[in-house]
Amino acid sequence: PRQDTASLVVLVTGASSGIGEATARRLAAAGHRVVLGARRADRIAAVAADIEAAGGSADHHVLDVTDPKSVLAFAAAARARHGRIDVLVNNAGLMALAPLDAVRTDEWDRMIDVNVRGVLHGIAAVLPQMRAQGSGHVVNVASVAGLRVDPTAAVYCATKYAVRAISEGLRQESREVRVTVVSPGFTRSELAEGSGDEAAREAVRAGMEIAIPAEAVAGAIAYAVGRPPEVDVNEIVVRPTAQG
Ligand code: NDP
Repeated sequence: PRQDTASLVVLVTGASSGIGEATARRLAAAGHRVVLGARRADRIAAVAADIEAAGGSADHHVLDVTDPKSVLAFAAAARARHGRIDVLVNNAGLMALAPLDAVRTDEWDRMIDVNVRGVLHGIAAVLPQMRAQGSGHVVNVASVAGLRVDPTAAVYCATKYAVRAISEGLRQESREVRVTVVSPGFTRSELAEGSGDEAAREAVRAGMEIAIPAEAVAGAIAYAVGRPPEVDVNEIVVRPTAQG
């Protein structure tokens, strides 16, 4: 089991922009060893270089969370470098908004693959190591869309409800692994440009006018990670004060 003051080995998926990038920077600044994963190699390399230039510890690996082999390789690389895995932040996600009757089945599949299967692949890749260590922490980024359903968001909401269900199941079954769900409201990032139909994208852009910075969500994640090992913060909802 880890010490309170240890420098933790923290894996962050979707660390190339938005909340994942802010989380990697924040946790590295707190003295943790971060391992960044995403598909855009140039972006994670640049963020890792920035972190190292500021005196932090950061590795980066190309990662596609929809591919279980890629996620296993990501975890294996972190373990090979650091000998352990203390925290996994399952953050990679995408949002494509459109009414169900637009029948954008490709986008439904992509959201399920990244937001649900991606989270499961992450858990599968780190759980054996965390069990062997006798400690670990899985932080899953859900959304306020995991707490309420709105028009054009049925499938996105379904994926985020699923993230909360999976998290609660993991929590109940784990006496050694901490589980935290962080559910952001409107947060400045590249998420709005994901895809979906133009009307829905326009509505999200309007919401983004009141959005909080990604650092605000990173702060919530850092709070949960920073509690003593016997304290498991299970759920944090963080949204703009002005969000209805
Ligand atoms: P961004 O679009 O800025 O970041 C999404 C990240 O996910 C990127 O780093 C992207 O990297 C990564 N990603 C996407 N697909 C894959 C994949 N197949 N494999 C690996 N990485 C992938 O948006 P946010 O920072 O906002 O999103 C982060 C999380 O926060 C998501 O789960 C989102 O649902 C959630 N969220 C966001 C809210 C908001 O208002 N912004 C509100 C509530 C929740 P790359 O393209 O390089 O692979």
